[in-house]
Amino acid sequence: MTSNPSPSLPPNDLASEEVAGRPSSSSDATASSARLMVGTGLAAGMVEEAAARAKKLVERTGVQPCLATVLVGDDPASATYVRMKQSRSKKAGIGSRSVVLPAETTTEELVGELTRLSDDPTVHGILLQHPVPAHIDERAAFEAIDPAKDVDGVTMHAFAAMAFGEPGFRSCTPGGIMRLLAAYDVPVAGAHAVVIGRSPILGKPVGMLLLASNATVTFTHSKTRELPAIVRQADIVVAAVGKPNFVRGSWLKPGAVVIDAGYNEGNVGDVDFEEAAQVASLLTPVPGGVGPMTIALLLEQTVDAAEAVASAPGVVA
Ligand code: NAP
Repeated sequence: MTSNPSPSLPPNDLASEEVAGRPSSSSDATASSARLMVGTGLAAGMVEEAAARAKKLVERTGVQPCLATVLVGDDPASATYVRMKQSRSKKAGIGSRSVVLPAETTTEELVGELTRLSDDPTVHGILLQHPVPAHIDERAAFEAIDPAKDVDGVTMHAFAAMAFGEPGFRSCTPGGIMRLLAAYDVPVAGAHAVVIGRSPILGKPVGMLLLASNATVTFTHSKTRELPAIVRQADIVVAAVGKPNFVRGSWLKPGAVVIDAGYNEGNVGDVDFEEAAQVASLLTPVPGGVGPMTIALLLEQTVDAAEAVASAPGVVA
């Protein structure tokens, strides 16, 4: 069920480009040195590979990989994310099952639904769209997902595997970020990585994955004092805050690698892009950076889960 990291691709093989309007050949010393870390091309390659594996699996075993999405409530952004994941699944030849529950759903009802999906042999991956309404115990809901189907890497089982550097499903956005860093040959071992945000689906697991790759990791959050001074020490910055243009260029060490995991209304990230582009060496755009990697990893891990089922004893291959 482990997804082996893609072989590191030289950035030239990716849709890498200079920040628009600021060519690196410029003799103007104040011009941007940042190169974009584009996720789109890399993600498309991952989805293509997942689709080919899904097709082979169906031909070889009759097992059709299937991702179940669970949406609680009618938050329009969440509904859009779920639709996007379903349509990408379909394009990759992965079946999808959609469960939509009303906003008043109780924790017990949601846990019941997730348990049913966990017990359903035709479902290989389960995604509970985050966040759920505030009255629901989100942890209890996540833990109702069978770890073998936790293709979004949200259970404590998945988190422990990430923390210990063991095989297992990665939390999709953090796992996607690690793939981007590898693809752009960013040296992680020994680097000082500052993670801004400590959510269970993003900040914490990305810090764990960076640590497992031998970075020196500093976690920061809403109670952190002197945040700009801490960020200024970072070789790698991961912004996972949920506040538009929160990280300023003046906070960055020249040459830092900046991963903007944020996605705010109007396609705005958590990093002030224009300012950061003047200081960073590598910078993810929003959109087109981290976002596509998240979905690609979700699909890849769904195929991993289906393959694991198909190769289990008792399944005729
Ligand atoms: P979240 O659960 O709201 O967590 C936000 C984190 O930011 C919290 O840990 C919070 O600290 C911290 N924070 C808030 N204000 C801060 C401040 N002033 N200084 C330092 N830290 C502060 O958000 P999330 O789910 O992790 O998402 C974060 C961002 O990533 C959002 O923009 C979201 O849309 C985006 N996202 C993108 C993808 C993708 O696929 N690209 C996937 C998931 C999320 P406390 O813990 O102290 O409250």
